[in-house]
Amino acid sequence: MTEVLERYHRNTLLFGAEGQRKLGRTNVAVIGAGGLGSPLIQHLALLGVKRITSVDPEEIDESNRNRSIGTRYTDPVPGSSKVDIVSRMVREINPGVEAIGLKCGLISENAFAAVRGSDWVLGCFDEDGPRAILNELCQAYKKQYIDLASDVPMPGIYGGRVCVSINGNGCLDCLDLLDRNAVRRYIESSERLIHEDKIYGISKTVLEEKGPSVSPVNGVVAALAATEFMVAVTGLRAPTRLLEYRGWESKVVTIVDEPRSECILCKGIRGKPEEADVERYLKLQHLRQD
Ligand SMILES: [Zn+2]
Repeated sequence: MTEVLERYHRNTLLFGAEGQRKLGRTNVAVIGAGGLGSPLIQHLALLGVKRITSVDPEEIDESNRNRSIGTRYTDPVPGSSKVDIVSRMVREINPGVEAIGLKCGLISENAFAAVRGSDWVLGCFDEDGPRAILNELCQAYKKQYIDLASDVPMPGIYGGRVCVSINGNGCLDCLDLLDRNAVRRYIESSERLIHEDKIYGISKTVLEEKGPSVSPVNGVVAALAATEFMVAVTGLRAPTRLLEYRGWESKVVTIVDEPRSECILCKGIRGKPEEADVERYLKLQHLRQD
């Protein structure tokens, strides 16, 4: 048995040699290479996809070391970009997978090109603003999209969610998974927000404060997303549209809520990037992270 066949032997026992070949032909973009993105990328490298393009503008800081898979104790802070760390991890796990790291944010020419050039897009954000924009991009560019979110909404409640949005069959918008106020605030310019905060007295620093984030909870969400990706690509079964991980109850629940029937995104603009004018986001200079 050749080295490659042996590497994937136990995979093929689950989803067959043809399933493995399909994975090996699949290009994936992972937007966000932090607490959710890094364990997800580890699974994608082990599964043996064709190419993983990771997109993240940030470097690690000391507080990322509790959950950033692939980060070494010896990686310097400052000076270690998240995409370099995950790309190194991919090459060390599986040199048969091409790893491309783009040190930029979602609102950049390179990230938009990465979305367009991939078969699957996996969003690993910790805020709803970029999540909403990626949802729109994936519908307009007709990409198969999985959104990952880990969530600690209040003390004692922790877990996350995986949403698989393919073939116009529901998206983050029509499943009501986005905080519209957070999305609006992300897209507004900072001058507008300062003006608004003066009127309503909302402190931007309070809203931007980061919540708890721990490795095993993120790891469950990443593994659930990788599993839905795997079953969809290999044809093992149809992926589940919406899964909720309730860590505080030790449960994974399938959410069967139906999306709104007339969604402008996953039905209206799907496959119509010009009509949707999604590149308008690139003109919002305050959001650009090239
Ligand atoms: Zn939709």
